Formats: sequence, structure tokens, C-alpha cells
Amino acid sequence: MSYQIAIDGPAGAGKSTIAKKVAETKKFIYVDTGAMYRAMAYFMLINKVNPADASTIEAKCTQADITISYENGEQVVLLNGENVNAHLRTEEVGNMASVTSKNPRVRERLTVLQKELAEKNDVVMDGRDIGTCVLPNADVKVYLTASAGVRAKRRYDELAAKGENCDIAKIEEDIVKRDEQDMNREIAPLKQTEDAVLIDSSCMTVEEVVQAILELCK
Ligand code: C5P
Repeated sequence: MSYQIAIDGPAGAGKSTIAKKVAETKKFIYVDTGAMYRAMAYFMLINKVNPADASTIEAKCTQADITISYENGEQVVLLNGENVNAHLRTEEVGNMASVTSKNPRVRERLTVLQKELAEKNDVVMDGRDIGTCVLPNADVKVYLTASAGVRAKRRYDELAAKGENCDIAKIEEDIVKRDEQDMNREIAPLKQTEDAVLIDSSCMTVEEVVQAILELCK
């Protein structure tokens, strides 16, 4: 049986930073499921699909073959065979992902792939529905959150470091809207399961959060 660590939480809570470090320490693979939803959203954007057009999203998603591989320990997302990592971490793609991920066909395709990865490997997997749907029997479940203001500031710093021009108020507005969509959708909404440990990282360092999760694995 593989060992499974599930980390769920809202946008910008620091899930990928934390999950990556936990995976490095445990020598597990890290699966960033958000990147898979982002790859699907990117596919819809380049194909100029209207986010309000659910039936086209449903039909189109069958043309997107999304797989992941690892290069020097980094997850590489392949969209129809092409490495699309460089296109995924923009606000436009994140906002589109929050819309396209509501689609049942999109979720079905990506969930199967995620479950397969966790059956074959010890994993740290992060997302919105990992503890609820993808890995309901995970050995450790964490619900990682932080205040909207802190999350917006972290996202702002990440984008500013890449030299992107951004507005912190708009980022916070987008984050709140994205949470609202992710928590209230019909299928696989973001929520804390009863067996998940809540960690509010607003006033914690990355190292403190990582340590707290490693303690849960003992
Ligand atoms: O975590 P990240 O910001 O990369 O996720 C982008 C979007 O993908 C989320 O806002 C959410 O709508 C969707 N997502 C999801 N289920 C997951 C991971 C991400 O619906 N397991």
C-alpha cells in the first residue's frame, strides 16, 4: 500500500510550497493537481472556448490528453505531449481553471489519473478535493488555509518576483471569487473533512507548517 498525504485548501494558502518540501523530506512524489486543472484551462483558453459554454468545455476536454512526468524531481505537465509548465501560473489561467474545473467530465478525467498515481507511488498530493474525493483514505489529511489578505500578499510577491505587473486589491478580489466558486460548486467542492487537520498558516513560517505536517506522519 502506498502512503498518501492529502493537502487541500483555498487559493494561495501555500499548498504547493509546503507539499513540495514535505515530499522532498519524505522522498515521496509531489502531485500538484491544480496544475492539471490549469493545463485543462490553458487548453480551453488557447482554443478560445467561452468559459460560460459548459457543453463545449465538456466536448473539448476529451481532446486534451494531460499527463505528468518528473524531471529532476519537478512535476512536468504534458498537454498532448507538450510541456506546458511555463504557461500555467498566471492569474488568467487560474481564474479559467476555477470555471472549467466545475465541469464533471473534466473532473472525471483528471481524478482517474490522480488516483492511479497515488496507487503506484507514495504521494503528497494537493488540491481542493484530495481528502474528500481523490484520496478519501489518505494516511494524513491536512486542510491548509490563511486569511485572504495574507494569501493575496503571497501571490502578489510571487508574481512581482517574476516581474509581472499586478494589483494586490485585484488579486485579493480574484482569490475571494475563486474560493467562492471552488467551495460552492456542485461536484467536489472544497471543504475540510472531519478527519483533516486544520492548519492556518497566516502567522506561520513555511518551515513551521512543514514540521507540523511531518509530525502528523509519525
Ligand atoms: O491550486 P491551483 O490554484 O493551482 O488550482 C487552480 C484551480 O483548479 C482551483 O481554483 C480549482 O478550481 C481547480 N482545482 C480543483 N481541484 C483540484 C485542484 C485544483 O478543482 N484538486
